[in-house]
Amino acid sequence: MAFDPSSLRPLFPILSQQAYDHPLTYLDNAATTQKPLSVLDAIQHYYRHDNANVHRGAHCLSDRATNRFEQARNTVAHFINAPEQSHIIWTKGATEAINMVAFGLEHLLEEGDEILITSLEHHANLVPWQQLAFRTGARLRVLPLTSKGDWAPEFSRYFTDRTRIFAATQISNAIGTTTPLKIMLEHAKQQGAFTLVDGAQAVAHYPIDVRTLDCDFYAFSGHKMYGPTGIGVLYGKNHALEVLMPYQTGGEMVRHVSHHATEFNVLPYRLEAGTPNIEGVIGLAAACDFLSAQDRNALLAWEHTLAEHVYSRLHKEGDIEIYSPEKCATLVSLSVPNIHILDLNAYLDSQGVAVRAGSHCAHPLMAQLGVAGTLRASFACYNTMEEANRFCDVLLEAIDLLSDE
Ligand code: PMP
Repeated sequence: MAFDPSSLRPLFPILSQQAYDHPLTYLDNAATTQKPLSVLDAIQHYYRHDNANVHRGAHCLSDRATNRFEQARNTVAHFINAPEQSHIIWTKGATEAINMVAFGLEHLLEEGDEILITSLEHHANLVPWQQLAFRTGARLRVLPLTSKGDWAPEFSRYFTDRTRIFAATQISNAIGTTTPLKIMLEHAKQQGAFTLVDGAQAVAHYPIDVRTLDCDFYAFSGHKMYGPTGIGVLYGKNHALEVLMPYQTGGEMVRHVSHHATEFNVLPYRLEAGTPNIEGVIGLAAACDFLSAQDRNALLAWEHTLAEHVYSRLHKEGDIEIYSPEKCATLVSLSVPNIHILDLNAYLDSQGVAVRAGSHCAHPLMAQLGVAGTLRASFACYNTMEEANRFCDVLLEAIDLLSDE
């Protein structure tokens, strides 16, 4: 029997509101997901009962806050099957996690070294590497994946003995393509490169096992997996985290400081300068618990059903161009020749349908597709078939209204 999202809807009260006198249809989940009550409650509980700074005070609130904070690290480690909780570094989000690696590895790069990314990257997994290349004289190379994520045998030549870093997204936020990670990571490892996977668009949909993936670093954001904004994770293998130069320095990340020298703390604290986002960490752990309590395969199958339904309804329409692969669990990205995506977006919004129109922080990918931007409907476990159909109906209505003839 197909998964029934109606059991989840009451857990997300924000969804049951009207938008301009229409039921809100929230299909902008790739930008950020809504948060279940358990996440909201965990944050409120923390502030009502446990609020104190962590790792510092010797009093009952501080002990409780510290315990909850470190338990959360354990929860997240379990959630992605990290071997130990010290492999989990708290960040603001995927962007900060990737920047932390790009700055942290700078001391190992030399002129002529190569940093390899794919052509499907979000700016968050492109600009930090490009800037690192500018600073060090390394060369940024781009693996030319098609929009379908096709891997051609000749791509192996992009991995050379100068490749020091290989960074790739797991799923494209702009068009939903799943990248051929396994083969790419194998090639990168054969060259001894550090490997980073941008999991920002994957964690809400796929169970993540960093041990099976076997990448050196894995980055993601809490807010795209039913958790709060302002919190994210950098997972790293021990040796990979150990070689990172701390990208920020200050309190918490030190063991001993004199005016002449500083002895850094051990992992994970060495990479976590300053007072952390404690409420975010607690909220993120609650989001992991929310997802772990679900039948993940059933959720994924449901998200596939929604995306495939939208794909199959819209791809029959001659005037719609779809950029997402047919088999995609996360989103449908499209454009309509001669109608501006912002006009489509405005009409959808006026009817209570929230989607995203734009370049999705992926300018080079948009250039590869030959468009300035796309209209993207992205799905989460709480979306219903009625919502998928409403998106299609309102979009087709918009196209009718906005067509020239
Ligand atoms: N990578 C991908 C694939 C993303 O979709 C996003 C967010 N759109 C990011 C990185 C950056 O995430 P954040 O803005 O939460 O740091």
